[in-house]
Amino acid sequence: MKDIRNIAFIGAGNMTQSIVGGMCKSGYPADKVWVSNPSNAKLEKMKSELGVNTSNDNLEVVEKADAIVLAVKPQLMSEVCTHLRENVSNLSDKLIITIAAGIRIPKYREYLGESIRIIRVMPNTPSLVGQGMSGLVTDDSVDQADKDFVTEAFNGVGETLWVADEDQLDILGAVAGSGPAYFFEFMDSLAKAATALGFDAAKAREMVQQTCLGAAQMAKESDLSLEYLRKQVTSKGGSTAKGVEAYQESDLHGISDKAVKAAVNRNQEMA
Ligand code: NAD
Repeated sequence: MKDIRNIAFIGAGNMTQSIVGGMCKSGYPADKVWVSNPSNAKLEKMKSELGVNTSNDNLEVVEKADAIVLAVKPQLMSEVCTHLRENVSNLSDKLIITIAAGIRIPKYREYLGESIRIIRVMPNTPSLVGQGMSGLVTDDSVDQADKDFVTEAFNGVGETLWVADEDQLDILGAVAGSGPAYFFEFMDSLAKAATALGFDAAKAREMVQQTCLGAAQMAKESDLSLEYLRKQVTSKGGSTAKGVEAYQESDLHGISDKAVKAAVNRNQEMA
C-alpha cells in the first residue's frame, strides 16, 4: 500500500471485518485503522486478530481519521450521518467512503453537507473469502489520489471496477452484487440434476463447485470471448452439445436478461 491514511470504519459487521482483514493482509498498518461499533464482541475480535484500534464511539474514530468508511445497514445511515454532521466540524476535510446498498450520493450530501468528498463502493459477499467484485463510483468531488487509495483498499478483498455513474453501479449491483445468488441457484440446479440420476449428493456438490471455479478461472485467464470458450468445449453432435441445446431451448440468455433487468429495477426503486 503506497498511500497510508488514518481510516475509520463505522460499523464492525461482516463487510468491515473482511475489508479490514484484506487491507491488513496486504500490508496496511493496523495502527492506522480505527473501527467503531455499539457492541464489543466484534471489536474485541478485530483488535485481538488484527491489532486495529477500536471504540464504541463513532465520533472518537472519526476524529482520528482522514478517511471514513460508512459500513452500517442502509436503514441506519441517516441517523449515523446526522450524528456525525451535528458533532464533527471538519467533515469536508475527510474522504467519505460508503458501502451501503441503495443510497445515492446526493442523499449523502443532504446528510453530511454539500462539500463532502465521497466515493460509493458496492462490494459483494465473495469479499468475505478474498474474491470480491467491488464496483466504485464518484462524482467530481474527489481527486485521483483519493480514487487510488480506495481502489487499493478494496483490491485487498478481490477486484475493483470503476463505473461512470450511479446508474451503472445499479447494473453492477444487479450482476456482481446479486450474482452470487444466481450462481448458487444454478449450481444447486446442476447438483440436484446429478443427484436425481442417482449421484451422491455430497459428491455432486463437490463436482459442481469445482467445475464452476475451474470455468471461471479459465475465462479469467483467456482473452477469448465467453461464447468462443463455450464453443471450444462443445463438439458437434457430442454430449455437451445436447446439454447446451437444452439450455438454449429454454432461452438461458433471455432468462438472464430478465433477471438482471428485474434486479436493476429493484435497485432503482429502493434508491
Ligand atoms: P452487518 O449487519 O454485518 O454490520 C453492520 C454493523 O454496524 C453491525 O456490527 C452493527 O452492530 C453496527 N452498527 C449498528 N448501529 C451502529 C451505529 N450507530 N454506529 C456504528 N455501528 C453500528 O452488515 P454488513 O453485511 O457488514 O453490511 C454493512 C453495509 O455493507 C450495509 O450498508 C450493506 O448494504 C453494505 N453491503 C453489504 C454487502 C454484503 O454482501 N454483506 C454487499 C454490498 C454492500
